[in-house]
Amino acid sequence: MKKFDVAIAGGGVIGGAIALELGRAGFEVAVFDRQQPGQEASWASAGILSPAPENPGMVTMVPLGKASLALYPEFVAQVEEISGKSTGFRPKGTLEALFSHDTKAELSTIIALHHGLGLNAEPLRAEDARELEPALSEEVEAAVLRPEEGSVDNRALTAAILEAARRSDAEIFSGNGAKAIWREGNRCAGLVLQNEKVAAKWTIIAAGCFSATIEGIAPYAPVRPAKGQMAALRADDLRIERVLWSEKIYLVPRNDGRILAGATVEYAGFDKRTTAGGIRKILSAAIELAPGLTNARIEETWAGLRPDSPDHLPILGPTDMDGLLMATGHFRSGILLTPVTARLLREWITEQRVSVDWDRFSPLRFKTEKTEATKKMPA
Ligand SMILES: Cc1cc2nc3c(=O)[nH]c(=O)nc-3n(C[C@H](O)[C@H](O)[C@H](O)COP(=O)(O)OP(=O)(O)OC[C@H]3O[C@@H](n4cnc5c(N)ncnc54)[C@H](O)[C@@H]3O)c2cc1C
Repeated sequence: MKKFDVAIAGGGVIGGAIALELGRAGFEVAVFDRQQPGQEASWASAGILSPAPENPGMVTMVPLGKASLALYPEFVAQVEEISGKSTGFRPKGTLEALFSHDTKAELSTIIALHHGLGLNAEPLRAEDARELEPALSEEVEAAVLRPEEGSVDNRALTAAILEAARRSDAEIFSGNGAKAIWREGNRCAGLVLQNEKVAAKWTIIAAGCFSATIEGIAPYAPVRPAKGQMAALRADDLRIERVLWSEKIYLVPRNDGRILAGATVEYAGFDKRTTAGGIRKILSAAIELAPGLTNARIEETWAGLRPDSPDHLPILGPTDMDGLLMATGHFRSGILLTPVTARLLREWITEQRVSVDWDRFSPLRFKTEKTEATKKMPA
């Protein structure tokens, strides 16, 4: 039987980054993926790095997002150096375009909200926004510039992280997924794979939206897939420098000239097919934001499955079973949250304390909610 210090189920960006971090810390680490690693959400993503909350429910995640964004330059430099691969990191800012006619009030509310959360955001008049990004529509009334944000090429990043993990002595096994956790009383002794068991002192579940399909995991990580459809466009005569947002769409420029447009959020089970309606919605919102895209070529369309949790927040840290930890539920922010997730898991395993408060993201919050609900039920 194989034996490791750490066994990780799932070789996406999260499992790969944890393996890298722990491999570098001297642990014997193994990653088990049921298929070729790095081909799920981490491949399908847009790679935007933005800790700004999309809605009030996401405010709780801002400190985690900010901490991760601050780690990014050092993290990608390390990954690129160890792997010898580029990650397409673009710390060039993001620009949110406002179309409403009452932009003055909207703009000051957005800026005040950002500043209240300690996020850098600058108001821009429409003409100044178009000077920075000439591709923006004439209909844009004002904009918010978030200069510290940016993007990374998530496909390149994931491949580089997996390579860096291998070069840091982590073993990565393809086509050998976890069926269950290996329980011994109140201890998790490792993973039950397709045809064997592997023993580990620490077992980490990082199987994205599939985590709850591993037997024994659903009470800690009741995640479900949230499908996102995307399109990659190329327009020879159009330059976009920063990530552009409107309330309907984002456009993400890549170093190779492609412009990614996305994304839908759909609850359609594990279905990864693109649909006419989904792609139409993306293309019409993209053209509304940057009309020059009308003649752009469509190079690729795809869909991926985000790991969503019941409160849309990540699920991180130890469980009530000795040796079992979760690193999943990153929903729409898993690429942003990769460096901080890897660091927190390493800190917990090596020192049993963490540098960023993660109590709010505990895997035990779902078990507690269930117990409370059960208590309230009439006899
Ligand atoms: C369309 C789209 C756009 C997105 N845009 C952004 C963005 O702009 N910014 C951002 O920060 N985030 C974004 N996200 C979210 C981000 O991509 C995810 O949160 C992140 O990739 C999750 O990484 P992961 O490693 O947890 O999961 P995944 O990448 O899904 O990896 C999970 C891995 O587990 C493996 N697996 C499955 N079952 C098992 C098993 N039983 N045993 C072992 N292995 C198993 C899978 O094969 C897979 O390799 C987006 C996601 C999508 C789909």
